[in-house]
Amino acid sequence: MKCRFCGTPLHDVFLDLGSAPPSNAFLRAEDLTAPETWFPLRLYTCTECHLVQVDEVQKHDALFSGDYVYFSSYSRSWLAHAERYVAHATERLGLGPDSLVVEVAANDGYLLQYISARGIPCVGIEPTASTAAAARDRGIETVERFFGRAFAQEFVAARRKADLVVANNVLAHVPDVNDFVAGLSAALAAGGTITLEFPHLLQLVAQHQFDTVYHEHFSYFSLHTVQRILARHGLRVWDAEELPTHGGSLRLWVCHAGAAQHETPAVADLLAKEAGAGMLEMGYYQGFQHVADQVKNDFLTFLLGCRRDGKQVVGYGAAAKGNTLLNYAGVRPDLLGYVVDASPHKQGRYLPGCRIPVVAEASIRDTRPDFVVILPWNLREEITGQLAYIREWGGKFVTAVPDIWIN
Ligand SMILES: [Zn+2]
Repeated sequence: MKCRFCGTPLHDVFLDLGSAPPSNAFLRAEDLTAPETWFPLRLYTCTECHLVQVDEVQKHDALFSGDYVYFSSYSRSWLAHAERYVAHATERLGLGPDSLVVEVAANDGYLLQYISARGIPCVGIEPTASTAAAARDRGIETVERFFGRAFAQEFVAARRKADLVVANNVLAHVPDVNDFVAGLSAALAAGGTITLEFPHLLQLVAQHQFDTVYHEHFSYFSLHTVQRILARHGLRVWDAEELPTHGGSLRLWVCHAGAAQHETPAVADLLAKEAGAGMLEMGYYQGFQHVADQVKNDFLTFLLGCRRDGKQVVGYGAAAKGNTLLNYAGVRPDLLGYVVDASPHKQGRYLPGCRIPVVAEASIRDTRPDFVVILPWNLREEITGQLAYIREWGGKFVTAVPDIWIN
């Protein structure tokens, strides 16, 4: 078992969450009589490049099936984030009708719809059949393939290089990070820009976000480590922004190593911040298991107390985060009766592993729970606003991360 970037043998455990099923493997009622496949969920830190990573990559087809139920467009705040990004990037890079934008892992066209609306030619690359079809339905040209070096070379030969390559929230999900970044480099025009967004490992540790760990999330990055990976493939970072998305992400603006873009002071500032937090030392990575166990134990203590007192607890948001927390904590429907999700693709199904039913929001008005646990804590503000009516019967909101919060 070796580091997926630099090949150094991995032996330093960052976090061990036992075993869990793939987080998007939602079950139908008829699946409940069948066994599920659980995979070990353990992260290692590379002692050489500090890339935090899962120890083994499952087969693509097991994790990203045609039945994939994650549609980006169902979160309103996520759509607003994409729209702001497009306005900012197209203006900053001066993109117009003669430009080409390529988005890798374009999902259902949630982002490219805003590029297209500005009259800028764009193509989405998306391996999942159901989401690719949804993107085509909204008029976005979509190629149904996995992205990598070979695909990029093929694409460039048939079309042209891109002025903007959007690779937001995909880098962490790529099994072969070298092949992927080589593909980004091959697809990029000489003066073009790649934007990368990914959850920042600095925030994961500082905010106790162990529930953002799941099998499909292969790598966890600092700027230092990403910079090394980019450099190997002839790319460099010319600007870096800290974003609030996913509990704290980085957005990097990347160009060819020899391109003319000037590096902003933000890059050196962020590198200094990481060094100051200790991210260049192994000790930084060795205390996280204890943090995760504390969060898990506090959440279970809360649920057991509610059970003892006869209080009804339900969840909101059937996302990967919730599945990690619920499976690691061993929560079952006796402690958390159901989980509400806005996506009709998830309603009527069951969460993988813990087998808690997923229902529509109407259930909350019908059953008047005492507590609603917001599983995607990063959307807390949006969801407490949307469900403010639970106050009518004295209902309260709960989040488990970074520490138990009840209000
Ligand atoms: Zn490494």
